Amino acid sequence: MSSWGCPHQLNEICQKVQGAYCRPGMRGCILAGKVTFHDGVVPFPEWPLGTDPKVRAAVEAGLRASEGSKGETS
Ligand code: SF4
Repeated sequence: MSSWGCPHQLNEICQKVQGAYCRPGMRGCILAGKVTFHDGVVPFPEWPLGTDPKVRAAVEAGLRASEGSKGETS
C-alpha cells in the first residue's frame, strides 16, 4: 500500500497557497484541474481564522488574475 503526500502541505496548511487550508484541487493547488468537484466549480481557498485579510485578498486576486474564469462551468 502506498500513499501520496503533497510537498507543499505542512500541518494541514498549504504553503503554495500562502497559508490556506490544504484543499486538494482548489484554485492555486498543484492538483487544480485534476479534481472534479460536485458543483463543477473549482473552489477558492479556505483560510484559518486570523489570516491577515490583506494576504488573503492579495492571494485571491492573484488567483483570479492568473486563472480568469477557468474553473467555472457556468
Ligand atoms: S492545497 Fe494542493 S498544493 Fe496545497 S498542500 Fe494541498 S495538495 Fe498541496
